[in-house]
Amino acid sequence: MNDDRSSCSMRESMTRRQFIWLSSLAGAGLITGCATNPVTGQKQLMLVSEDQEIQIDKQYSPYQFSADYGTSQDKKLNDYVDRTGKKMAAGSHRTQMPYNFRVVNANYVNAYAFPGGSIACTRGILLALDNEAELAALLGHELGHVNARHTAEQMSKGMLTQAVVGGLAVAAGTQGAVYGNMASQLGQVGAGALLASYSRDNERQADSLGMEYMVASGYSSDGMVGLMDMLQSMGKHKPGTIELMFSTHPMSEERYQTAVQTAETKYRAAKKNPLYRERYMDHTASLRAQKDAIDLMQQAEQELAKKNFAAADPHLRNALKKAPDDYTALVMMAKSQLLQKQWAVGRQYAEMAQQAYPQEAQAYHLSGFAKVQLKDFDGALAEFKRYDEVLAGNPNTLFFKGYCYEGMKQYPAAGQEYKRYLQVVNQGDYAGHAYKRLREWQAKGLI
Ligand SMILES: [Zn+2]
Repeated sequence: MNDDRSSCSMRESMTRRQFIWLSSLAGAGLITGCATNPVTGQKQLMLVSEDQEIQIDKQYSPYQFSADYGTSQDKKLNDYVDRTGKKMAAGSHRTQMPYNFRVVNANYVNAYAFPGGSIACTRGILLALDNEAELAALLGHELGHVNARHTAEQMSKGMLTQAVVGGLAVAAGTQGAVYGNMASQLGQVGAGALLASYSRDNERQADSLGMEYMVASGYSSDGMVGLMDMLQSMGKHKPGTIELMFSTHPMSEERYQTAVQTAETKYRAAKKNPLYRERYMDHTASLRAQKDAIDLMQQAEQELAKKNFAAADPHLRNALKKAPDDYTALVMMAKSQLLQKQWAVGRQYAEMAQQAYPQEAQAYHLSGFAKVQLKDFDGALAEFKRYDEVLAGNPNTLFFKGYCYEGMKQYPAAGQEYKRYLQVVNQGDYAGHAYKRLREWQAKGLI
């Protein structure tokens, strides 16, 4: 452990902004100051209580899951991942946390944890793993971040709050800028603005805890070696697919070497434990049947990231031939069409995506956006209302509803939504638009 993290000396290096933010927490009675790390027993600067970790998790994790095309509809696959994670969580340092493990429908290779114990892995990473011990190593690593309170620690340093605010404001923009902002948002696949970026020390500790948890659950220590090996080779052969994982979880040759050594020394006895390869293959068979379609979507994502929309389309079309009801492929196609200003075609794909997965929010947002562009404000409003039912609390939805009412010339209703929006967000293009309209309408006596 390094002293900088285990002591509370960071107070002196706090910026004024961080200090103000922390003081506002203190006022709300949330400040806890120096806390004892549940894993190391050492002191760490901790200004976020456990209740607050859980509350932040509940509030923000649904947005990240939705950005990753929602929780997989494959209940058996999800239950399997949840079971594998919970088995280890029961032997972790913070058994009291409300852990939940899920597969999200994103194609890129990633896994992440929110501070209250919501942990997700993408279907892309599941396809890259070879056995259950590797899955356990992956989930164990994320559990390590939650148990050592790494995210809470980052928040205490004032980092995550910026990401949270930035993440929710990401879609902001006025009429002209709506398109531009959306384009930049879609350019980065699963931008992960809400995800914590860990330090190398955090990574070392999460690896070590992950190995401890997986071995205690009866897995071969070789699972961690296999996971590190896969991540390393993925970085070499498909770098675009694993970019976000590496930017949030810094990867190094050292992490691989440490896993090899620890498996040989500290956990040597556990090497002969099972990898459960067959069980993994059985439970992921339905996912692996979609591998070709997912490969095509990964190729499309690389093109979308480079804004080569026309080059992305053939991959998506081929993916949809193989998997016509795939929510992710339909949403990606809708986005690609909208980015090419093909509003009607984009709307069509967004509506197909809604049918494929009615409980997921993104498709409602996209068809709402398409309908705004087509000047069907009434129809767009209905889409944004549905979005709100599925994923409540996104301040941007307030703005979009206001914008639809404005399009229908229903000024009092528009004014109400804009006012509610400005209570949550007071900067950016959307806020500027809302404020300007409110002043105009007040001056004209329209509201
Ligand atoms: Zn990590």
